[in-house]
Amino acid sequence: MVTSHNLTDYETVREEFSWDDIYAEADWDAPNELNIGHEVADRHATDRGQVALYQVGTDGELTTMTFWELADRSSQFANVLADLGVEQGERVFSYMPRIPEHYVALVGTLKHGAVWGSVNERFGPDGISYRLDDCDAKVVITTTDNRDTVEDALDDAPAVEHVITVDRGGGAPADDVVFNTALDEASTEYEVAETGGEDDALLYYTSGTTGLAKGVLHKQRWIAGVAATQKYAVDLQDGDLYWSTGDLGWLTGAINTLGAWFWGTSLFTYEGEFDPEEWADLLDEYPINVLFSVPTAYRMLRENEEVLDDANLDLRHALSIGEPLSAGVVEWGEEELGVTILDTYGQTETGNMIINNYPTMDLRPGSMGKPLPGIEADIVDPETGEVMEPGETGEIAQRGDYPCFFAEFWEKPEKTRKAFVDGPDGEWYLSGDLAHKDEDGYFWFEGRADDVILSSGYRIGPFEVESSLGEHEAVAEAAVVPKPHEERGNIVKAYLVPSEGSEPSDSLAEDIQNHVKEELSAHEYPREIEFRDELPKTVTGKIRRTELQDEAEEEADVEP
Ligand code: ATP
Ligand code: MG
Repeated sequence: MVTSHNLTDYETVREEFSWDDIYAEADWDAPNELNIGHEVADRHATDRGQVALYQVGTDGELTTMTFWELADRSSQFANVLADLGVEQGERVFSYMPRIPEHYVALVGTLKHGAVWGSVNERFGPDGISYRLDDCDAKVVITTTDNRDTVEDALDDAPAVEHVITVDRGGGAPADDVVFNTALDEASTEYEVAETGGEDDALLYYTSGTTGLAKGVLHKQRWIAGVAATQKYAVDLQDGDLYWSTGDLGWLTGAINTLGAWFWGTSLFTYEGEFDPEEWADLLDEYPINVLFSVPTAYRMLRENEEVLDDANLDLRHALSIGEPLSAGVVEWGEEELGVTILDTYGQTETGNMIINNYPTMDLRPGSMGKPLPGIEADIVDPETGEVMEPGETGEIAQRGDYPCFFAEFWEKPEKTRKAFVDGPDGEWYLSGDLAHKDEDGYFWFEGRADDVILSSGYRIGPFEVESSLGEHEAVAEAAVVPKPHEERGNIVKAYLVPSEGSEPSDSLAEDIQNHVKEELSAHEYPREIEFRDELPKTVTGKIRRTELQDEAEEEADVEP
């Protein structure tokens, strides 16, 4: 259905791949001399007309920024940081919407050699201060709309010395640096920091799906890793308009923004939150041809697919990350979006999408695909570090010697060490995610190691059961967790959100159970079903199974 120009033959590219070729694309003598800010902006500034960013505000207004504007503006921002006395390696964090200033601050911070981090706007004061305090951030960039929330957070983030505020009306507190005024007064000449591949660049926090979010440090060399993903997995081409819906508050947002700009691709961004109708209008109005989003957004579009009826779509690729993407959603995408949604897998720690479906590969819907060229990933026994045979379940693991692999959990050497296991043929980083490979090397996700259900001696991965549940027409969303049980150890309990027009009832529950028994297996079906209006989620929209598991445990009232 789709063609790729960059990866005509997966196996050949995998064999011929070299990181040096990617580094060779950079302006400087990478990885010894490398600065992400320079590589993503200044390098393309000579191409005067090329647009870096098309931004649509919540008011529907379009703002464009060319690469030379981005280069100039980010230099001005870097000069502002220099004037404030911010030094290389110090942390600068944002808490703001998807507006052009946000992207300018990102690039400017990197040019200055400071470490960039970001907190998604859905967090409140406690979420903000936890992150700022954990890494002793020195500067916060925000907007007047968010200024009160930041103020509440500052009490618990004593290292913060400066707040830079974008005035969107109402004026900023007297002690703040006002973004636009300060930049206008600053020079557009800036000598980019003399950083190298091993200097600190980004500090992003994980989603906190399984517990407290962890600060994950990445180096300047990270850019080569994400550039490879954008080339081979996202398959960017000249003239593309690329909408990655992920916020800069998550590493995925930074990966797709900076990785795409490394290649000079034009990005699209929308300030507003997810809304099926709004998204359909944007896809209709703008010639967006590459869309990168998350399973929950695709599922919501499926639930409201009538919004796409009159939309004129130009998509060449659609991609997904963050949670498993079921075969049913992939098939829906082929019908309604006209493209095969390509699932990609990665973590804040891996710094990149390391296992992906590539446009030219024979795809197996429901599979995560195969390792990115240049990355060694496998399924490993977490106890022994041995590579598993096809069909055997183990943890997704990888060797840590490629550019975008993380350097450390911020100032937590013990935690960092624990993420590795020594095996007979060397050390592996363990992801904490369970999967197996098939005979042809495709990876199949099973669930987080913490989420696996042990029932009557069977190990049951929640994803397979959830996918099967999702194929039932009455099910909009599903989450399964173990519920303690006297004889069986645990039973599988499913929490279901009924699809529109479906009425929860005992007979519906039974019908759904029979569906899973027949389609999947007799031992994995949920013995208990509970209907809910919604499922608990992280701010990124990932289902929080731990919360449901706690509820199920409490309800079971069984002695462990
Ligand atoms: P925390 O580590 O704080 O518990 P988190 O693991 O959700 O949160 P992220 O680094 O944002 O934080 O997410 C990475 C995780 O998301 C992966 O380890 C995996 O569990 C899940 N994930 C990402 N992509 C996929 C995918 N394509 N299929 C299945 N799971 C995925
Ligand atoms: Mg994680």
